Amino acid sequence: MAEKAFGAIELGGTKTFVMIAKDKTNIYSRKIFPTLSPNQTISDITNFFKDETNSLDLELASIGIGSFGPLDLDPESKTFGYITSTPKEGWQFTNLKGKIEESLQIPAAIDTDVNASALGEFRSLLKQDIDSFVYITIGTGIGGGFIINRELVHGLVHPEFGHIRIPHNKRMDPFPGICPYHRDCFEGLASGPALEERWHMTAEMLPKEHMAWELEADYISLALMNLICTVSPQKIILGGGVMHQLHLFKKIYQKTQRYLNNYIKSKYLDEQIRDLIMPPKLKDNSGIFGALHLAIDTNK
Ligand code: ADP
Ligand code: ZN
Repeated sequence: MAEKAFGAIELGGTKTFVMIAKDKTNIYSRKIFPTLSPNQTISDITNFFKDETNSLDLELASIGIGSFGPLDLDPESKTFGYITSTPKEGWQFTNLKGKIEESLQIPAAIDTDVNASALGEFRSLLKQDIDSFVYITIGTGIGGGFIINRELVHGLVHPEFGHIRIPHNKRMDPFPGICPYHRDCFEGLASGPALEERWHMTAEMLPKEHMAWELEADYISLALMNLICTVSPQKIILGGGVMHQLHLFKKIYQKTQRYLNNYIKSKYLDEQIRDLIMPPKLKDNSGIFGALHLAIDTNK
């Protein structure tokens, strides 16, 4: 009899990751391909699962999907599981969850890419006694996945932490910001494309000593101060392409402490701030492992 396994999908704006696994340590197969049109990409995904389960003699119990959005995550909605008003060409109102379930004839669970990453990182903490947790990605966009009382937060729609307002000193930083909705929100000032437009070179190319990083750490620390004062998370993971610049962490520790100004008393805001604000443990695999947990959770 075919062995039971789970499918995981991380659908990104440029790349799609797929994986078949029994659990975090038993991975049977994984692949990455470019995200093209919805028809092409959905058939690349479903063909991968069909071909691999056949040749490895596996049976998928369910699939977990972490996807770029915005997504409709309201189970009562007619368009539940759809990608909705995305700027990504051709993908508006794609019935992602429905098409995958129909093609593979198994149930799928879907959540945002950042929620999937949050779940992946949260579950990798294992024995740590943490129930309030936030994962922030600083990449092409900025997003936050929130776990409160050990559950992912959806709320009204889903949190949009990238679009909070932070102080923008226009004299020190005259760059107007690039968010098409709010201009100088957090994402408009501090995402990878904002860095590129402000400094006329890609974020990867900016030297470590460039003043760009001082300003970047400043914006991130102001956002973290707001986060710490509202949600009081016990762990904050900072991921995404821009945070590959690991030298940012030291600056962020110092500036976050300076902005909080000793108001909140916790050893984690003092000598142990390195344990509060950290890079992702799973590196660039947070999302795909989170998607695997989404799949496993639907079978509980
Ligand atoms: P996405 O957000 O599209 O899923 P990433 O998290 O890799 O993908 O974010 C891409 C953004 O991160 C780009 O703006 C890129 O310039 C920036 N980036 C990627 N790698 C680095 C790096 N090593 N240092 C600084 N910025 C980076
Ligand atoms: Zn915005």
